[in-house]
Amino acid sequence: MVFVLVINCGSSSLKYQLIDISGEKVLAKGLVERIGMSGSALIHQSAGREKISMEQPVADHQKAVELVLTALVDTGVVDSMQAIQAVGHRVVHGGEGFTQGVLVKDDVLAGIKKCIDLAPLHNPPNITGIEVCAQLMPGVPQVAVFDTAFHQTIPQSSYIYGLPYELYEKYRIRRYGFHGASHQYVAQRAAAMLGKPLEQLRLITCHLGNGASITAVAAGQSRATSMGLTPLEGLVMGTRCGDVDPAIVALIMEKEGLTPDQVVNDLLNKKSGVLGISGLSSDFRDLEQAASQGHPRAQLALEIFINRVKEYIGAYAALLNGIDALIFTAGLGENSPSIRQQICRNMDYLGLAVDNTKNDIRGQEADISATGATVRTLVIPTNEELMIARETEKIAVSYQLSAVSKGRG
Ligand code: AMP
Repeated sequence: MVFVLVINCGSSSLKYQLIDISGEKVLAKGLVERIGMSGSALIHQSAGREKISMEQPVADHQKAVELVLTALVDTGVVDSMQAIQAVGHRVVHGGEGFTQGVLVKDDVLAGIKKCIDLAPLHNPPNITGIEVCAQLMPGVPQVAVFDTAFHQTIPQSSYIYGLPYELYEKYRIRRYGFHGASHQYVAQRAAAMLGKPLEQLRLITCHLGNGASITAVAAGQSRATSMGLTPLEGLVMGTRCGDVDPAIVALIMEKEGLTPDQVVNDLLNKKSGVLGISGLSSDFRDLEQAASQGHPRAQLALEIFINRVKEYIGAYAALLNGIDALIFTAGLGENSPSIRQQICRNMDYLGLAVDNTKNDIRGQEADISATGATVRTLVIPTNEELMIARETEKIAVSYQLSAVSKGRG
């Protein structure tokens, strides 16, 4: 048994999973929410048991990690903290320096800190999570796995923006892409489901959740992706605007008297997307219900969302010279037959058609293609934590082996 703890630290939350990677089994999972706020709580679930919720003050991330470790021992998931052999951390931005997961050492931590400029909202809590775990679990290998790493195979023709090239040279302003572990995981599962080597497949992976992105995957490598320098670009999302004319930013600043930070971090990131269009909700369940009752702006928000997804699918099919499969994943992609059906409507030009009966599923792997479709349409629940755990084990085991051989030498 090899126990890997996967940690995903947000600014006020910490999600975790303890995975026995030898059997790829989730032993426990949970969440600490509202860290540093009133009403904070640990929600913990051991495999095969009821979820337990413990409301208690959680002042900071150190306290949150302590609580998680204590819960794992107290609920009998592990005998002691020493049973945890490695910790894998989700890190959002790895810049150009990190093309795969890495063992965290001082230089790696410094490298992640250098990327704070590129992800000011995400990287600081990720760093806190690493520092706290290193402190509380001395000697246990900590591995950083980056959302951006999978997309480092994108060619320059897709990652350089139409801006003065010096801005790339000076500040590394370019497309990075996110949700890497998810796109990679579903691409690998698609190959298994289709019974073909990944190297022979051209895929479009649609990660449609609250944050949403689309990736063109050829031979198992990311070739183009819709998110950019930050996770703001691309699709219209729950609360993020996706692609807009950049001149809009200056216009809003002038007309509304707002600072760049207020426009980008607040208005475009948190108040836009389907929430902003509908004026109702960022949750697609609410929007689908309201739309079915005739709410015009909920209907409009869904139409805009679906339209943008179709535009990207068309663009990426062109880039890949056709595709073998289209894949839906994440909260909406896995759970909304209606959104999948509307996205795939009138796609026969591509050889793609969905069977409405097969499409009537939620949260499970399925081939929902209609008979006669030459391009497969697949639903694949994502598993970013498993990807992080696999990579963590690979890196931690090779580190331990090299430590042993150095010891012998
Ligand atoms: P994620 O960010 O992957 O957790 O996805 C969260 C989003 O998935 C929610 O905001 C919902 O909009 C959407 N979602 C989850 N379940 C459903 C469902 N049954 N029908 C429609 N949308 C759903």
